[in-house]
Amino acid sequence: MNRARLVIFNAALGPLDYRVPQGMEVVPGSVVVAPLGPRQIVGIVWEAERLPATEVPEARLRPLIEVLPVPPLRAELRRLLEWTADYYCASLASVARMVLASGGALRGPSTTIEYRLTGGLPERMTPQRLAAIEALEGEQATIRELAGIAGVSEGVLRGLVNQGVFEPVEVDCDRPYPRAEADSAQPILTPAQAEAADRLVTSVRDGAFAPFLLDGVTGSGKTETYFEAIAQSLRNSRQTLVLLPEIALTEAFLRRFEERFGAAPVVWHSSLKSTERRRAWRAIASGDAQVVVGARSALFLPYAQLGLIVVDEAHETSFKQDDGVRYNARDVAVMRARFEHIPVVLASATPALESLQMAESGVYEKLLLPSRFGTELPTIDTLDLTQEKPERGRWLAPRLVQALRDRLARGEQSLLFLNRRGYAPLTLCRSCGFRFKCPHCSAWLVEHRLSRRLACHHCGHETTPPANCPECGEPDCLVACGPGVERIAHEVEELMPEARLAIVTSDTLNSPDKAAQFIAEAEAGLIDVIVGTQLVTKGFHFPELTLVGVVDADLGLEGGDLRAAERTYQQIAQVAGRAGRGAKPGEVLIQTRHPDAPVIVALAAGDRDSFYAVETEARRDAGAPPFGRWAALIVSSETEAEAREAANRIGATRPQLADVMILGPAPAPMAMLRGRYRYRLLLNARRSAEVQQVIRDWLGALSFPQGVRVAIDIDPYSFV
Ligand SMILES: [Zn+2]
Ligand SMILES: [Zn+2]
Repeated sequence: MNRARLVIFNAALGPLDYRVPQGMEVVPGSVVVAPLGPRQIVGIVWEAERLPATEVPEARLRPLIEVLPVPPLRAELRRLLEWTADYYCASLASVARMVLASGGALRGPSTTIEYRLTGGLPERMTPQRLAAIEALEGEQATIRELAGIAGVSEGVLRGLVNQGVFEPVEVDCDRPYPRAEADSAQPILTPAQAEAADRLVTSVRDGAFAPFLLDGVTGSGKTETYFEAIAQSLRNSRQTLVLLPEIALTEAFLRRFEERFGAAPVVWHSSLKSTERRRAWRAIASGDAQVVVGARSALFLPYAQLGLIVVDEAHETSFKQDDGVRYNARDVAVMRARFEHIPVVLASATPALESLQMAESGVYEKLLLPSRFGTELPTIDTLDLTQEKPERGRWLAPRLVQALRDRLARGEQSLLFLNRRGYAPLTLCRSCGFRFKCPHCSAWLVEHRLSRRLACHHCGHETTPPANCPECGEPDCLVACGPGVERIAHEVEELMPEARLAIVTSDTLNSPDKAAQFIAEAEAGLIDVIVGTQLVTKGFHFPELTLVGVVDADLGLEGGDLRAAERTYQQIAQVAGRAGRGAKPGEVLIQTRHPDAPVIVALAAGDRDSFYAVETEARRDAGAPPFGRWAALIVSSETEAEAREAANRIGATRPQLADVMILGPAPAPMAMLRGRYRYRLLLNARRSAEVQQVIRDWLGALSFPQGVRVAIDIDPYSFV
């Protein structure tokens, strides 16, 4: 190869050609450094025939600078990147960037200096120094990372290093991970689990593309079952990727994994330290990382020899990314398995309708796990809030309160579920009606009483609640409207002061350590009532938990999109599955104002099949997925007029097609988000329509002012 075509990491530029200097070895997939103007830029060598570009004469080519010391990206991964870019209407550069997710990893083997406490004290103690020393007990990391953990400046820590309070430690960046053993522990499987596991093991042994839907109610042992497939992948010396939706809550999973395989898996998520990220990336690329457990971004890593993909809780909407490349990790996982010629397992107690439909039509093989023998499913009852009203100013109806008191008296645990963080979703002035609103978004500020702040859940804007109304200046006139988990916890505290409470949200369980601590306390019986958001709907197994109260089942149905009923069903069915997992039977009470809504009726009857049947027909009528396809265009700008004009121009040039209906433009429900004004168009297409090509042709003919962004969302989940 004396010339090479590169995908470079600049979405505004297409592929570029370079000269390969004498003596430099490059192949398709090589990761290289190339000159771009006065700068240097990372790129990936690609098959020139697959990437059209303007041919540059030999004499004008600039030479590549170096090949980075990492394995070339394999053809299977390059094909996946092309497919993802094409399907989601994204640039190949922005998709490929997700592969090289660790800058440090590209620089080859090295050691690094980390710092840890020596136990010594500084000559002069300041509050900042004391806070840093207390916060960093047991930590070892770079100065920058330690500063981040402790919330102090790097200067403070450097001062402490000079005084001998911290000492440097040289660390091999790529020290190997402990080895997992396929037969470290013998699994105990029910006959149904063993049968499903056998099927998966055979498939992993065969090593061909095979998509499975592992469908089993909560507590049926899906994890143990797919662990056997992982064991086979280990025996084959192949890598396994397990995708999980909530990385903060993988603690229980990691422990079970270690019990079964004798070592922890390699973990990948967005809050890894840069050194951990680098080490994991290099182990994945070299093949040393045997099993990787990660959030959706782990999907695009350069596995050397992938043998199996598992997507656990595959129905979770957090697998859909809603910024940057707007992909759905569940769907891309199936495509990756196809390109790699390996099995993929989608595991869920409440599968997405799309997945069920694929199983019905025979594309996916369905493996059904019935409930474990001996564990009864909980009894489920609805509580009509229009008939059984909570006391004034309260949110829990008398029957639910009585059920909580009974559990407390018997020493059993209860769980109250409300999918809303904070204390109250809206704060207003009793005297003038002023409402606290985010200055950057069309959203109310949510009161967080524990941390004394008003926060926007969309952009992160925060302010301290004032003593007086900012509008009329009246003191003591601010009222909290509606409940969040903190308010429910407060209510329980007032009703049962002796109950030991835990609030479980992404605010309180914001690190793996805190998650582990919560699980340990709950298992040890140190918590009587858990109040939580959707974080508590999965993964937990507390034998003493016998009551689940759903505080507001209607919340997810309000103003929702076409998936609202399905999501409500999934959430409540999952949280109900937390009750009665031990020897004692469980009870679920669902508070609702609409006890006759089909989704609530199906939940109360425990009749999953009829819910899915009704939902399937509704989707079929609406031409919604999986029977039709959706795509959204989101037009935004910092100026309202600019956003509106661009949206109108897109609307005015819409193609007239028999198989694609185009709705909008209209102001988005979130008409302003992070300071940008937003308009939306929605495409509803028949399955046969080439919707991506329609969009590319349509938008490709238009150009917009610099401040306008047009995002394309294929198979959208969010409609705000
Ligand atoms: Zn006021
Ligand atoms: Zn905001």
